[in-house]
Amino acid sequence: MSKEQLHEIVSEMREELQGLSDYIYENPELGLNEYKSSKAHVDLLTKHGFEVEYPYLGFDTAFRATFDSNKPGPTIAYLSEYDALPGIGHGCGHNMLGTVDTGAGIALSKVLAETGGRVVVLGTPAEETDGVKVDMANADTFDDIDVAMCTHPSDQNLMSNVSLAMEALEFEFFGKTAHAAGAPWEGINALDAAINMFNLVNASRQQLRPDARVHGIIVDGGVAANVIPEYTRVQFYVRSLDINYLQDVKAMVIRSAEAAAMATGCTMKYNHFEKSYYNMITNQKLSDTYNKNAKDLGIDMIDGGDDLSGSLDMGNVSQVVPSIHSYYDITEGVPTAGHTVEFREATRTEFGYQAMMRTVEILARTGYDVITQPELLKEITEEFNAIEKVN
Ligand SMILES: [Zn+2]
Ligand SMILES: [Zn+2]
Repeated sequence: MSKEQLHEIVSEMREELQGLSDYIYENPELGLNEYKSSKAHVDLLTKHGFEVEYPYLGFDTAFRATFDSNKPGPTIAYLSEYDALPGIGHGCGHNMLGTVDTGAGIALSKVLAETGGRVVVLGTPAEETDGVKVDMANADTFDDIDVAMCTHPSDQNLMSNVSLAMEALEFEFFGKTAHAAGAPWEGINALDAAINMFNLVNASRQQLRPDARVHGIIVDGGVAANVIPEYTRVQFYVRSLDINYLQDVKAMVIRSAEAAAMATGCTMKYNHFEKSYYNMITNQKLSDTYNKNAKDLGIDMIDGGDDLSGSLDMGNVSQVVPSIHSYYDITEGVPTAGHTVEFREATRTEFGYQAMMRTVEILARTGYDVITQPELLKEITEEFNAIEKVN
């Protein structure tokens, strides 16, 4: 069995994988409600001889599927996503994303009898909102895993790079109602607190580093224009490439809320309304291996630089195990933003399917390299051990 034989193994899976991606496209489910989607992945993995824990870690739509050669060797993990977006279904292409990672796991499992080692496919719900990869990174999920890989459909073939660390903060202001015309002086205006918080945050933008992002909305702004609002609620996302600098930005936002509450006489409290995501740390050695395999299959991976498009729950995984999160072109290079109908439809084109199958093979080949080249895994692990991580 050689690495080249993975090509034939993957080619034979086209119908099954296209079927899985199409089925999930037709049955879009929001984060933590991916019942049909997760079951479709689990059914396929079970059919191919994987042992599956499902539900996993207390999440109904998460799973951990393992194929063990029962011979010594490293453990390779592929991370599947399958959550959709409100309104536009699979506008982020997670129908194809999950299919590629599950497909890579199945393909690699077919050669393990000769190479040894194990492959684990993790079903990771709710990437768009409350990513369960965070819970997996906090639990013991990756303790016995040597490398973790995930690839995302895109309009370019982008190397694994960085992502922004992110915290999701919710602020509540508590005032006192009063008739807005009859006796406004009796009231304490919680909407003024919310508005002034935004003004104070905006006043600080000039001093933010270029990689910082602060963006928010007023969720509750009062109930009637003739009543002084006694309660308002706002939500902010704060982001930065640097987890330590993120704490400075977060402190600025909290100070703004405190000052607005003080000025208006309100009380304030805050909490996290979604999980915090860490910044992505790409394992360069693992990424180089992936990029080389892409090259061998005719794909030149592009270095997108410090692309600041958003935050990933893969960031948390990258802090506990050597990881990559790369992108593959499904639009023939036509600029197409994610979270759009156009991007969703690209997952149903012949070009998209071919990119999907090629990426399955690149991922499987990369896993094969890690298993069969002990020196490579040693370098990957040394690089990982040397990086500064969140404690
Ligand atoms: Zn996505
Ligand atoms: Zn998305």
